Amino acid sequence: MSISASQPLPQSSDSAAGTAGSVTDRLVEANRQYAAKFTDPGMDARPVQRVAIVACMDARLDLHEALGLELGDCHTIRNAGGVVTDDIIRSLTISQRALGTRSVVLIHHTGCGLLNLTEDFRHELEEEVGQRPSWAVEAFKDLDADVRQSMQRVRTSPFLLHRDDVRGFIFDVTTGLLREVEPRS
Ligand SMILES: [Zn+2]
Repeated sequence: MSISASQPLPQSSDSAAGTAGSVTDRLVEANRQYAAKFTDPGMDARPVQRVAIVACMDARLDLHEALGLELGDCHTIRNAGGVVTDDIIRSLTISQRALGTRSVVLIHHTGCGLLNLTEDFRHELEEEVGQRPSWAVEAFKDLDADVRQSMQRVRTSPFLLHRDDVRGFIFDVTTGLLREVEPRS
């Protein structure tokens, strides 16, 4: 199995493809328009709702929209799968100890790309490039089990100040609804 994206990506819409420049150029242009209307909200860096949300990087998951969040409300910490890795613990530790968050919300989602991978991904990468990644793929086959695993990693981290309010959910990308995962089944 190739570890590159071998399937053609969906074509961009004509309107997007017809705009000159790269995607990054379009982002920079959008930012100019954003900044033109932007007013300084006068906030400091501490999230208003004192919550850190750990979620998958999936493009279909709009956390602020899906959870009714406003600018300044929360920390959003995202990676492939929304898995609680050492780097997520690093961010959560800073979030709690330096920036005052107390609650942790973990969000995985249906149709996650991690469901189609295995740890073979690492071995194939090593064969291809001649270097073994230092990180685990953290692939999973069972969303609920992985949410529980992630909750457990937060609850047992010695670095975190607040480990009581940790809840895990699965976001359904077809309905937009969250389903809570109980810590133990
Ligand atoms: Zn995902």
